[in-house]
Amino acid sequence: MMSMIAENLKRIKADLPAQVQLVAVSKTKPNAAILEAYEAGQRVFGENKIQEMTDKYDALPQDIEWHMIGHVQRNKVKYMAPFVALIHAVDSLRLLTEIDKQAERNNRVIPCLLQLFIADEETKFGLSEDELFELLDSEAFKALHHIKIQGLMGMATFTENQDQIRQEFSTLHHIFEKVQTYNHLPNVECKTLSMGMSNDYPIAIDCGSTMIRIGSTIFGERNYELNK
Ligand SMILES: *Cc1c(COP(=O)(O)O)cnc(C)c1O
Repeated sequence: MMSMIAENLKRIKADLPAQVQLVAVSKTKPNAAILEAYEAGQRVFGENKIQEMTDKYDALPQDIEWHMIGHVQRNKVKYMAPFVALIHAVDSLRLLTEIDKQAERNNRVIPCLLQLFIADEETKFGLSEDELFELLDSEAFKALHHIKIQGLMGMATFTENQDQIRQEFSTLHHIFEKVQTYNHLPNVECKTLSMGMSNDYPIAIDCGSTMIRIGSTIFGERNYELNK
C-alpha cells in the first residue's frame, strides 16, 4: 500500500507542468517522514532553520538537495555553506557578501534567489523592486564571484482574495523578466522563480512560477508546539 506522503506527492506531481520543480518543505517534520518522500522519489527538500537542516543533512541520504527557504542569519551561513543547494530568501547585500565569503572558503559557488517583498503585510521579509536593482547595479555586487543569482523568490499575502494573490505573483513575474536582462553578468543566471505554497501554488504556476514550495499538502499540518 502506498503511504499517505507518497500519495500526496503523486497527486501534486500529476498536475505540475514540466518546467515547475517541486520543493518538499519538511520543516518540523521527522526524518522518517522525509524518508517516506525520498522512497517515493523526491530529492529536493526545503527547510527554514539552518540548525535543523544541518542535522537532517547529516542523518539522511547524501543525494538529497537541501534548499534553505527561511530567513537567514548571517552568523549561521557557515554551517550550511558546505552543502546547501539553493538559498531562497536572500534579502540584502550584506547577507549575500557573507554567503560569498563562506562559499569561497568551501571552494564552491552557492546558488541564491533574491527575495522580493510583494505582499500587503507587515511581517514578510524581502527587498523592494528599487532595492533589488540597486543591489544588482552596485559595484560591490559585481565583485562577488562565489554566489550566483539564479532567480527570485516571493510570498503572496495570506488571503482568500485570489485576485490579489494573482496580482502579487504577476508583479513578481514581471520583475523576474527584468532581472533576466542582467544575465550577461557572470554572477547572474536568472532562470528560477520560486513562488507558490500549499494554499496558492496553482495561481503561482499560472503566473509563471518555476519552483513551488509545498509543505502541509505533502506532509500534513505542522504542529509547531510539539517541535519547539
Ligand atoms: C513553510 C513554508 C512553505 C510551505 O508552506 P505550506 O503552506 O505548508 O505549503 C513555503 N515557503 C516558505 C518560505 C515557508 O516558510
